[in-house]
This record gives sequence, C-alpha cells and structure tokens, in this order.
Amino acid sequence: MQGVLGEFYSQLVPQGLAALKVTERAIHCNQCELETHNNRAIKCCGFQPVIANFVVGALLETQELELINAYSSPVGLLPKKEVQKAHNKSRTTEGFSDLVCDFYNQGFCKIWELRNSTCRSFFCKSSYSLAGLEFWQLTEDYLYSIEMSILQLVLLETGYSLSEVTELMRLTDPDDHAVTDVLIKPSKSFYKDCFDVFNRKKEEWLPQVHSSLDKDLQNLINFYNKKLKA
Ligand code: SF4
Ligand code: SF4
Repeated sequence: MQGVLGEFYSQLVPQGLAALKVTERAIHCNQCELETHNNRAIKCCGFQPVIANFVVGALLETQELELINAYSSPVGLLPKKEVQKAHNKSRTTEGFSDLVCDFYNQGFCKIWELRNSTCRSFFCKSSYSLAGLEFWQLTEDYLYSIEMSILQLVLLETGYSLSEVTELMRLTDPDDHAVTDVLIKPSKSFYKDCFDVFNRKKEEWLPQVHSSLDKDLQNLINFYNKKLKA
C-alpha cells in the first residue's frame, strides 16, 4: 500500500494497513484512456477534493501554493461550488464535467505528492477487477475519516470551540448550502501553523484516531484478506 499512500499518507494509517501488499497495474494515468476517448485533457480531474488544513501547511513547506483560486477556509481548501455542482451532475448523466480541479495543469496534478485521500484512492480500473474498486472505495472512506478527524483536532488545538468546529465542518459537505457562501480566507501562516500543530501532536493523536475507527480498519483488512489476497 505504501506506493499508493506515499510517505506523508503512510504515516497517517496504522502499520498493518500500510504493509498490505496491493499493487495496481491496470491503469496508466500518463496514458489516460478517458483523456483519449473524450478528446479532452481533463482526465478524471473534473472533480476537486477537500485539502485538509494541515495538508495545506505541508504543501506550503515545499511549494508556492496559489490560494487565490481555491476556496480557502479554516478546514482547508474546498472545491469551488461550480466544479462540485458540475461533478455531481456528471455522475447522474453521461460523461465527465468540462470544469476542472484548480490543481490540474496540462495533464498533471500540481499537488500529486500530497493529493488527498479521495484522489489517492481513486482508480478507474483495478488489477483486482470489481473487488479492487470496492477495496479502494473502502480505503478512501477510511483515509478520508482519518484526515477529517485530524483536521478537527488541529482546529480545536488552534483555539476553535467544539461548536465552531462542528459548524465549520459543514463546509466539507458539498450538499450543505447553508454555509458555503461564507468566505473565510485564512493566511498561509495559518495553514503552516496547522502543519506545525499536526507534527507536534501526531504521536498522541494518531493512536486515538485509529482506535475510534478500528471497526472500519477491520472491515477493510477483512475485505482485503477475503477478496484481494486470495
Ligand atoms: S485514474 Fe483517472 S487519470 Fe488515471 S487512467 Fe483512470 S481516469 Fe485516467
Ligand atoms: S487534486 Fe490533483 S488528482 Fe485530485 S482532482 Fe485535483 S488535479 Fe486531479
């Protein structure tokens, strides 16, 4: 799994998950069939993920991230509403949206090393057929829950109250229109502080987060043992 998770995301999951032997050979994103078939260079990136606050801080350590286009908030960078709406619509009709993720640039992802759990776990095909696709969906759900748990702990640690964090988390729900017009633009230093907090507290937090999601991890590992390992 470490090849898919990458160094940063491997540290977020329990060792037992990172050590699973899963190798995907069915897809080649550099020769994306979707791109060729639709004659549009957007691949599967007519979607934009939530980039958690501490991950934004980690990105800013190594690159000049342009925050102006992204929808900045204390929880992290959010998909623009028009991209999200078009993506949701494309799931109920044929084909993909023409709108594209802010981080997509001429066939490549500008934040590939730290792309979030959703992008990291998405495979349009799997070497393990349908079971593989289901496995990656379970992986995405698990990894996303870890990311969301940590970003909330970061917010609490940086001084937000529990009720404020609950309200802010509504920003991550694309169907919750009540709060998505609230534009809050934290500075780059806020995100860098979030990453510092994560680094300072991760040894303490990760075991707690893993423990709260233990049932999901067991489901994921059981699925792997039954459907992929065999
Ligand atoms: S995962 Fe996305 S980029 Fe990779 S081959 Fe599939 S559609 Fe193309
Ligand atoms: S973050 Fe990267 S991989 Fe994910 S949708 Fe955007 S461009 Fe594509």
